[in-house]
Amino acid sequence: MTLPRIVIERCHYLAECTEEPGAITRPFASDAMRRAQALVTDWMAEAGMTVMRDNIGNLRGRYAGAGEATLLLGSHLDSVRDAGKYDGPLGVIVAIAAVQRLRDAHRRLPFAIEVLAFADEEGLRYGSTYLGSRAVAGPFEWRDLERVDSAGITMSDAIRTFGGDPDRIREDRWQGGDLLGYCEVHIEQGPVLEARGLPVGVVSAIAGQGRFEVEFTGVAGHAGTVPMDRRRDALIGAAEFVLAVEAAATTQEGLVATVGKLETHPGVSNVIPARAMMSLDIRHADDRIRTEVSVRLASRAQDIARRRKLSIEIRTVAQNPAIVCAPRLVSLLTQAVEECQVQPIQLTSGAGHDAVVMSSLSDVGMLFVRCKGGVSHNPAESVTTEDVAVALDVLSRFLELLAEQ
Ligand SMILES: [Zn+2]
Repeated sequence: MTLPRIVIERCHYLAECTEEPGAITRPFASDAMRRAQALVTDWMAEAGMTVMRDNIGNLRGRYAGAGEATLLLGSHLDSVRDAGKYDGPLGVIVAIAAVQRLRDAHRRLPFAIEVLAFADEEGLRYGSTYLGSRAVAGPFEWRDLERVDSAGITMSDAIRTFGGDPDRIREDRWQGGDLLGYCEVHIEQGPVLEARGLPVGVVSAIAGQGRFEVEFTGVAGHAGTVPMDRRRDALIGAAEFVLAVEAAATTQEGLVATVGKLETHPGVSNVIPARAMMSLDIRHADDRIRTEVSVRLASRAQDIARRRKLSIEIRTVAQNPAIVCAPRLVSLLTQAVEECQVQPIQLTSGAGHDAVVMSSLSDVGMLFVRCKGGVSHNPAESVTTEDVAVALDVLSRFLELLAEQ
């Protein structure tokens, strides 16, 4: 069997490691993760790597090189609920396959390669994303250890049960000396490559993200007796704001904005809503533009509230700055794509990735692989063996180019 076929087959094997029969759900420090890691450990060993698991629960496979420096490759092994087969695992398995190729050719590069299979990126079990890469690159939030899952198990206990020591997560931080960078292969999770008819694309930046909670407050009242001109309906204000969000995003190139959650209080059919709470997620590759739009939308929300005699509160939940992929790695990946006879394109990632966190430790680069319909976080995720073959060739070529430098 060819290596690209093996990569696809391995993604299918990992899909069997799930907490929910009939679906793919692989949370942090779960039995499903334990089974997945047993498979990945074997594959890493077969590719000539020494394998260890760190305290947070990342699997790390190291393929020694002739020199001291290390190139990090990898992605995450955990999943969302009812996930697809490729978001995360593909990047781990392609990286192992690239090392397997070196091993099969009895080849050592001037640098070591360490493949990181991160224990948690999606945050399904504890609602705390990037646990794995934060342990490696920092900063790790110690308060996270007190978080409790839906079964009442603290993160500390989950880590212990999984075989790690929560008191020694500090030791998971990268201590292996000089780094040449971190490079992650990942499905695109968007439609650009498919629309352009290209198997892979080089990521130039990962969009920054602002997350907010917006709450309009009015006055509850009887749906049958309060005349329309006397109402202070919080939901009508919220509805107007949702449309303002859409308008702001459609008129700003490259900006995406989403209200994904909307709750009303008291939330019954015959009462005018007194409160409307919503989430707001705003992303752009340029932090300045994202901030400008956020400020503009906040003042728009104030206007709406004033006109409708509502009060308004806007809370910032998180602000994650955009990260720029290292020009050196972008250019080597682009050259590798060209040398594989594929038209190179660069694109920005709207989704966050472990590379975001790893950028605080080293240069980062990413290679996106076309996925059918741009679908992800969904059982319908699909990639072709031919595209995986291109991604593997590009990654292998990238390693050679880096070795020649
Ligand atoms: Zn992912």
